[in-house]
Amino acid sequence: MTMKKAVSLVLSAFAFFLFAAVNCQEIEEKNFETDSMKKWKIHDKNRPLPPLVDPGPLNLPIPPSADAQVLFNGKDLSHWVDSKGNQAQWKVENGTMEVVKKTGSIQTKNEFGSCQLHIEWAAPSEASGESQARGNSGVFLMGIYEVQVLDNYENKTYADGMAGAVYGQYPPLVNVCRPPGEWQCFDIVFVAPQFDESGKLLKPARMTVFHNHVLIHHDVVLTGPTAWKKRPSYKPHAEKLPLSLQDHGDPVRFRNIWIRDIS
Ligand code: MG
Repeated sequence: MTMKKAVSLVLSAFAFFLFAAVNCQEIEEKNFETDSMKKWKIHDKNRPLPPLVDPGPLNLPIPPSADAQVLFNGKDLSHWVDSKGNQAQWKVENGTMEVVKKTGSIQTKNEFGSCQLHIEWAAPSEASGESQARGNSGVFLMGIYEVQVLDNYENKTYADGMAGAVYGQYPPLVNVCRPPGEWQCFDIVFVAPQFDESGKLLKPARMTVFHNHVLIHHDVVLTGPTAWKKRPSYKPHAEKLPLSLQDHGDPVRFRNIWIRDIS
């Protein structure tokens, strides 16, 4: 090897490591993890639970505003399909829709990006199972960013999987869960992430959530899509996607679902 070649080899190696280091730094700056996320493992059972707060009497249902799209009027699932695009198979009864185990999650026919969503839900009156196996469902904004539905009333689970949690990312600020069988509501302000034409993330998704009219997330920055035991980074997707509700095997009920486009 000539001296010139050796120097060039060393320089390229140095450039490569510098590039790798800078890239690594970028990823770390862009994974949006908060100090608490770094401090506690995902689904960490040792992470302190948010305080229990009585939300006070709820006056539900909350009627939709004139400019809202009503996604469930209590009569049929005409706005919903299953994951394959076929008619949704959940049960509609007494003005509510109920998860039918193994029929799968359902999603809206219409697609949404940034939005304000009102949704009312009730965990099964007869509480069975514990932790994540009691009254589990979920509201998935754009089908991929979950606000957890769970019977969290006198039912302990890990903080970032509690009712109202941005699952795996943010525990709710307080636990305002009502007893099983009682109607409760989420009011969600979701700001969709933005990608450029090459698929590069320009702005992460953000969420503000009220559970039973009490603030449980204030403009939190999502680290990416929802997953179990991991926090995957963003993958580029369309500006609007269907909203979905999770079949986690428990007969959770929903009613009075309406959405306002704020994109
Ligand atoms: Mg869930």
